[in-house]
Amino acid sequence: MSASQTTAIRHDWTRDEVLALFDQPFNDLLFQAQVTHRQHFNPNEVQLSTLLSIKTGACPEDCKYCPQSARYDTGLEKEKLMAVEQVIEEAKAAKETGATRFCMGAAWRSPKDKDLPYVAEMVREVKALGMETCMTLGMLKEEQAQMLADAGLDYYNHNLDTSPEYYGEIITTRTYEDRLNTLGNVRKAGMKVCAGGIVGMGEGEKDRAGLLMQLANLPQHPESVPINMLVKVAGTPLDQQQDLDTFEFIRTIAVARIMMPKSHVRLSAGREEMNDEMQAMAFMAGANSIFYCEKLLTTPNPKANSDMQLLDRLGITPEKRHVEQDSQEQEEALRKTLAEAETDHLFYNAVN
Ligand code: SF4
Repeated sequence: MSASQTTAIRHDWTRDEVLALFDQPFNDLLFQAQVTHRQHFNPNEVQLSTLLSIKTGACPEDCKYCPQSARYDTGLEKEKLMAVEQVIEEAKAAKETGATRFCMGAAWRSPKDKDLPYVAEMVREVKALGMETCMTLGMLKEEQAQMLADAGLDYYNHNLDTSPEYYGEIITTRTYEDRLNTLGNVRKAGMKVCAGGIVGMGEGEKDRAGLLMQLANLPQHPESVPINMLVKVAGTPLDQQQDLDTFEFIRTIAVARIMMPKSHVRLSAGREEMNDEMQAMAFMAGANSIFYCEKLLTTPNPKANSDMQLLDRLGITPEKRHVEQDSQEQEEALRKTLAEAETDHLFYNAVN
């Protein structure tokens, strides 16, 4: 591909085509991903989201990677649904450190109808702060999706996790079809879709290709595509899983960028275990969104400060929202965070 060629938005990828992308020499793949990325995004901007667990643990599902499943003894402390006021306090704090999107996650198979008014209230209040809202609450029925959309929810996250072929190795309590139905209900309600998967769960390259094929062949590409690296939490069935090769992870990001040129590809769980160089390579491959908080649901995430310092060293700035006033407020918040980060600089360098 030449630097002037425009990538088409496609929904008809075949597995062979996707595998051919994966199998290119690394530099060719990264070049193609960079060219694609630059056609649709400022390559030096990254969107920042913050994720808060609003209900932790005791989930009846059996996702083998997940410390929140009630089936595995991971020592995780269970928490009931958080009070709306506390969620708002967390959202305000996230806004102050520069996050533009606030994601709220609950460990449910699906939300109960009695919980929905509370989560809808959370959406309304976070929206009122001028932030974008995202939720991940498990499977959604059509009317539940509509209720969340009516409350003003911008994004709904529901991952496909892996390829349809490998899926049964990871989860048995809900089907691939269930997941696709939820994504369909989210779209029908008019919300934006955040859907991706997890790599490093023992799947093969053909499964990583299969996952991306499923996502890209949806009638509309998800606006956000989180690519998670498995976090091996002791007590989960995947805690002894072999590490995925770093370059294979970067290849997955690059292929996602090429297949879904206009989507935000999010470097998501597992970032704590990635060094700065690996994260920089992921940005080069087209990742342009990160979760920016100390905890990613229940697994550690690099602290806001080290994120700011890494972005600063790479000349990457947080993506601005399009509302003028919000942008000004956000820039102000970021300037403050960066100034604080500078004060911490020596300490940060000494320990990293
Ligand atoms: S990934 Fe979600 S659905 Fe699966 S066990 Fe964890 S919290 Fe439950």
